[in-house]
Amino acid sequence: MAEPNAGMRALVVDGQAVPRRMTAKMIKDCGVTEVLEAESAEAALSLLEADEAGIDLMLTDLRFNGTASAAGGRADGGMDGIELVRRVAESNLASYLLIATLDDAAVVRSVAAMASALGLEMAGHVKKPISPESLRPLILRQIARRVTAPLLRARSVHVTAEELRYAITTQQFVPHFQPRVRAGDGSVTAVEALIRWQHPERGLVPPGAFMPLADRVGLIEGITDVVLEKSISWARRWQDAGIDIAVSVNLTGEALLQTDLPKRVANLADAHGIARNRIVLEVTEAAVVTDAPYPIETLARLRLLGLGLAIDDFGTGMATLEQLQRMPFTEVKIDQALVTGVFEQPQFRPVLEKAIRLARTLGLKTVAEGIESKADWDLLNELGCDELQGFFVARPMPAEEIEGWAQGWHRQPL
Ligand code: C2E
Ligand code: MG
Ligand code: MG
Repeated sequence: MAEPNAGMRALVVDGQAVPRRMTAKMIKDCGVTEVLEAESAEAALSLLEADEAGIDLMLTDLRFNGTASAAGGRADGGMDGIELVRRVAESNLASYLLIATLDDAAVVRSVAAMASALGLEMAGHVKKPISPESLRPLILRQIARRVTAPLLRARSVHVTAEELRYAITTQQFVPHFQPRVRAGDGSVTAVEALIRWQHPERGLVPPGAFMPLADRVGLIEGITDVVLEKSISWARRWQDAGIDIAVSVNLTGEALLQTDLPKRVANLADAHGIARNRIVLEVTEAAVVTDAPYPIETLARLRLLGLGLAIDDFGTGMATLEQLQRMPFTEVKIDQALVTGVFEQPQFRPVLEKAIRLARTLGLKTVAEGIESKADWDLLNELGCDELQGFFVARPMPAEEIEGWAQGWHRQPL
């Protein structure tokens, strides 16, 4: 595979040799540079502790030797996968976790909650036996994540809640903006705000390195407010400059628990004289796949107030048609893992086509993320996707550069 994923390293932990080797091979086939294997939790831990280069992704089963005692732990007294996950998370031995298991979704969810509470981010889960179809999108997504936000391993970053708090009060967070265009004629339709931490010593820190901590320690509201305020005031400046674009802002699942959020956003739009439907809030598919009442209440209220609502990273979560039908989205953003380079991977095309079809069935606008080449653009246009976003169009840039970029952008770059 191409350059950018060079250096990504993964570890597969599975007590059974054959499935372990097959999984390792599938991961390698996706373009991951190095895939290590361990046959038990103990072996995995000692390997991780001795490893200097750092593991980006650990894929593990929750049980080894197929059994776990009722009291927890393994029947033979060894360490089980749950304990492994906890210890890896506590000592920051890997950046992302992928669970492969026969266990039901409830078990996976609680282990995932524990891992992310301890700062180990989830890369998803797959059911065993693992098929390339189920694993590949998750691995490609990790590769994509790594390209945009080269994983600053928790080990080497050490961001503290105190630092985040200080950064909020001293306004070190700035949104950059990435343009989005119509697939048919290339006209500019919107920009997405993507937060960066302008750190006095470390330079520009990508969201992956601090958003999970901000979420955990309750600082998301402060950060979301900064991004909303700055994005909407920029929207006004662009409007005054005659650039007619929508502005979209990302929200975490946590933000949806704040029932006053919709009113705050609508008030900001009104105060800056921006039509409410020109502000789009993006929420990931994973954040809305829940039966809890508050997220849906907040989504409904956002729509009632006339704001746009996008489902982000679509196609990688587990949303069912029924769940999506209950939610008042206006657009779907198809995850880059399903988009980038799919023209040269025909086996993925059906997944992409299905995602676009599903969005259309629901009457939603479709936006493809991760357009990195003309071939990506052409394929998505051919499949009937409405709008495109990605490095081939433009990388995220400081707000000050958007006006110049929009003037220089040719409607028909192809
Ligand atoms: P996202 O909302 O799905 O944003 C798209 C990510 O893909 C961005 O990464 C963007 O730089 C990257 N990207 C854009 N085009 C391409 C491409 O052609 N190829 C590849 N490989 N990547 C591309 P970024 O800025 O690192 O943001 C990562 C995630 O962090 C975002 O994913 C979003 O979920 C979250 N995030 C960013 N800003 C905010 C924010 O203000 N609030 C919240 N709650 N989350 C944010
Ligand atoms: Mg987004
Ligand atoms: Mg996305």
